[in-house]
Amino acid sequence: MTIIIPACSECGMSNTYQYSDNFVCADCGHEWPVTQSTADTDAEPTIKDSNGNILSDGDAVVIIKDLKVKGSSITLKMGTKVKSIRLVDGDHEVDCKTDMGQFMLKACFLKKV
Ligand SMILES: [Zn+2]
Repeated sequence: MTIIIPACSECGMSNTYQYSDNFVCADCGHEWPVTQSTADTDAEPTIKDSNGNILSDGDAVVIIKDLKVKGSSITLKMGTKVKSIRLVDGDHEVDCKTDMGQFMLKACFLKKV
């Protein structure tokens, strides 16, 4: 693997080298991380609705099919609106508060409105 070492962002000289996880400039001593951003690795997993739209906390959604709630006699009807969802980790990634209570739903049964 060839690592391309960029020129120093401080002084513009190309007398730079990699030292451990940093690039170092031999001319001015400036150091900067090899990995420019950790944002990608820290990013939340993207959760998409049935149409492939990305869902985020606070979105309003509609349930696209009747869903029977496990362990109860409640059925969430198709077309039920949820005003403000909350995304969570796990198999059922969307936390929904409805008039009938709070439920954990799969994003594939929801549509962003
Ligand atoms: Zn420099």
